[in-house]
Amino acid sequence: MNRKRLIIIGGDAAGMSAASQAKKRNKDLDVLVLERGDYISYAACGMPYMVSGVIKDPDSLLILTPEKARANRGIDVRTRHEVVSVDLKNCSVTVKAGKGIGKAMGKMMGKGQGDEARTFEEHYDGLVFATGARPRLPAAKGINLEGVMVLRDFADGLALKDRRDVKDVVIVGAGLVGLEMAESFRRLERNVTMLKRSDGPLLDMDPALSELVEQELVRNGCVLLKGSPLEEMVGDDSGKVVAVRAGGETRRADLVLLATGVAPNSEPAREAGLKLGVKDTIAVNEHLATSHTGVFAAGDCVSQIHRVSHKEVFVSQALAANRSGKIAGANVAEYLSGGNQFSTHPGTMATVLTKVFDLQVGTCGLTVNEAKAAGFETGFTWIKQHSRSHYYPGGSPLFVGLVYERKTGRLLGGQIVGKEGGAKRLDVLVTALSAKMDLETLSRLDLSYCPPYSPPWDPVLIAASIALKSI
Ligand SMILES: Cc1cc2nc3c(=O)[nH]c(=O)nc-3n(C[C@H](O)[C@H](O)[C@H](O)COP(=O)(O)OP(=O)(O)OC[C@H]3O[C@@H](n4cnc5c(N)ncnc54)[C@H](O)[C@@H]3O)c2cc1C
Repeated sequence: MNRKRLIIIGGDAAGMSAASQAKKRNKDLDVLVLERGDYISYAACGMPYMVSGVIKDPDSLLILTPEKARANRGIDVRTRHEVVSVDLKNCSVTVKAGKGIGKAMGKMMGKGQGDEARTFEEHYDGLVFATGARPRLPAAKGINLEGVMVLRDFADGLALKDRRDVKDVVIVGAGLVGLEMAESFRRLERNVTMLKRSDGPLLDMDPALSELVEQELVRNGCVLLKGSPLEEMVGDDSGKVVAVRAGGETRRADLVLLATGVAPNSEPAREAGLKLGVKDTIAVNEHLATSHTGVFAAGDCVSQIHRVSHKEVFVSQALAANRSGKIAGANVAEYLSGGNQFSTHPGTMATVLTKVFDLQVGTCGLTVNEAKAAGFETGFTWIKQHSRSHYYPGGSPLFVGLVYERKTGRLLGGQIVGKEGGAKRLDVLVTALSAKMDLETLSRLDLSYCPPYSPPWDPVLIAASIALKSI
């Protein structure tokens, strides 16, 4: 029998999920994963805790190795193999491989490719792009100075962990990675300054809830400078970063972490002629098929449909990467076997949960700004309640914010900040959003009650009841 060949570009969450699923669906497929870095299937979300030392063993973040993927799953994984171009007409990819590929690849630190790279072509019958995303870098002077770092892949995490000689850290950006790394650096007793370009709230939350997170940062010794765009990074004669200029001020820095968001790695797809979507993502349909037959894409490199606004969005999320990888793997296997029973990707609820020192901070669905931009006449209500029954020892204030449509009372989004029980409430809101609940239905949910975990009227129920009064 003529065995079909599937090539997957990228070997992290989406790529290895796609490879494993395709192989599971069809054992006769030859599955080849080409990964330009040194590592595959690493838990990027654990890296802030690995850098801080909460997670002691970095290897515990490596879910799979090429050897295990080969031995246990029958998948041929090749690291330090970068796909530099794709020929859709002839079903082939051009690969650069060798010692110089990997660590220096895809980084801005400018070491470039090594001399030992060789170039060759590989044929495919089916193709999956799982090329993920890379740090979006600000256009500021000094970006190549030593000590200017990013955190995206496992090698970045190890490099940050190795920097023991650091006293003053400046984090550029106050999104998810910036917030988590602020805590990590404080645990290591570094001086931490965070620069936020705009003076708006964190994570586009309601200002009242953002204020709580900002206070938590300050309480834990971080300096948060809002409305302070990065101007330049200043180096010494040896090329090491020593200071940062931002918002008209100069601050000492022997490490600068650029955490200014991510951009999809869609260049090979674009150059091959695939259609792009929002923010330069690879455009896919609900089956994760690209604009070219037999070519699928998954993970952080693709656009997703927002489940509330139904708009195409770009979000970087681990579950979405794993899930879309699994679906793309199943669908490419189906395509290669000549079938047409394709699985459908459900889209994203843009759920974010993070830990900022002692606070659980979460958002889901649409923020007020996004809801307005999507054309909803938007209402917002937030409440403060105790996380446990008032008579039960311990507990702490829990803040719940609801975004809703005024006309219909439909829930559009949620925001949670609190020391305990926040994650549970966030998932209630995600579930309510998925079921397209309105405030009335939300207020009537039969949520769990037990004094150590909640008051009889859970904070989510109270928030829904109070919001109901305003529509
Ligand atoms: C510090 C940090 C914390 C995070 N925390 C969370 C969290 O708490 N919750 C959450 O939901 N998400 C979190 N995320 C996001 C999550 O990690 C990503 O959504 C997920 O890793 C995306 O997986 P992916 O496989 O699509 O892309 P990536 O992880 O970007 O992997 C893509 C792979 O493709 C390779 N590649 C790219 N181009 C080529 C090419 N041309 N040839 C060969 N290989 C190529 C890259 O080297 C890379 O290994 C976090 C991310 C970071 C960095």
